[in-house]
Amino acid sequence: MAKYSESPRLSADYLRKAVPVMNKLGVAVNPTNYSVFYTYIAGKNSALTKEIDKLLEDNERLTRSQSETLFNKYFEEFDDSKIEQFQKKTQKIISELFGNLSRVDSDASQYSGELESFSSKIEDLDVGKTLQDIIDQILTSTKNMRRSNSTLRQQLKETTGQVDNLKRALESAKQEALIDPLTGLTNRAGFNLAMDHALTQRLAENKSLCLLMFDIDHFKKVNDTYGHIFGDTVLKIVGSILQKGVKGKDTACRYGGEEFAILLPDTPIEGAHQLGETIRKAIQNGKIKRNNSKEDVGNITVSLGLARYNDGENMSKFIERADAALYISKENGRNQLSVAG
Ligand code: GH3
Ligand code: MG
Ligand code: MG
Repeated sequence: MAKYSESPRLSADYLRKAVPVMNKLGVAVNPTNYSVFYTYIAGKNSALTKEIDKLLEDNERLTRSQSETLFNKYFEEFDDSKIEQFQKKTQKIISELFGNLSRVDSDASQYSGELESFSSKIEDLDVGKTLQDIIDQILTSTKNMRRSNSTLRQQLKETTGQVDNLKRALESAKQEALIDPLTGLTNRAGFNLAMDHALTQRLAENKSLCLLMFDIDHFKKVNDTYGHIFGDTVLKIVGSILQKGVKGKDTACRYGGEEFAILLPDTPIEGAHQLGETIRKAIQNGKIKRNNSKEDVGNITVSLGLARYNDGENMSKFIERADAALYISKENGRNQLSVAG
């Protein structure tokens, strides 16, 4: 893969030169095609240069699938992060180019105004046909230049929109990757990020940080008795009770299977204990019913472990202590909360 280390000015120049070539071949001005034609103009890949030179020589117009094939052929090792980097660079180049174009356009407009007034003064002087013709020609060229500037600007505006769409799509893909689809809570990956962030904050601010771990009691039996689909419904309900219980900086997460966690920055252990107990009771009293049935599925309960972050410990140690406290709750008969030592 070619490296893009040129200066903003040079890269803006490449981009400006790429657009007419893209127009000539009839390819859409989008970030994928930019990669191809930017690289072509920059002369970074001789095989690609040869192929595009040939297309131009033959006066070809490319279909969408032909331009995609070009991209796949020469850029197949592009991964998301590279696309993202490229897209950021393109965005920067485009905005710089916009700035330059506006300046050129306003210079041209001033120049064209001056020419016009000059031209009418010359007319008054009756300088003869040849000079008048030359001036008219200069005037026409200036107007054409302004027109092509404004077309290019329009194209760039559309491309900027496409780059923005791409950015939004990448951002939402990133967000989705952190959400558990069943419960809508943060998943383990999201939890790890929240924990990283909380530990960094805690280092800076030294406020109390607590962690509650939950595990549904005898959940295997719920699945075995009522089926997996109902088991999933129970997971959703427990998830929503947790979600309702948290606010602000708190993160409720599905840690895995039938295990949940709540990370509580800026929370004293008494507050975390109280929240854990409130949620435990809400689940116990939840009276979860099966579809089309008035039958209560009694005894959906959770066991909890609570730990307060100790200075200097790492993420695993912190989680391990909350987990050990949860295990004590199980050992002592379930449906209860234990605090880590
Ligand atoms: P304990 O009180 O000791 O926690 O007992 P348990 O039965 O809850 O614990 P165990 O770890 O033996 O079983 C967990 C069960 O959770 C087994 C597994 O099938 C079920 N489970 C895990 N993920 C899901 C899921 O996404 N949907 C459903 N329906 N069940 C799940
Ligand atoms: Mg479990
Ligand atoms: Mg369990």
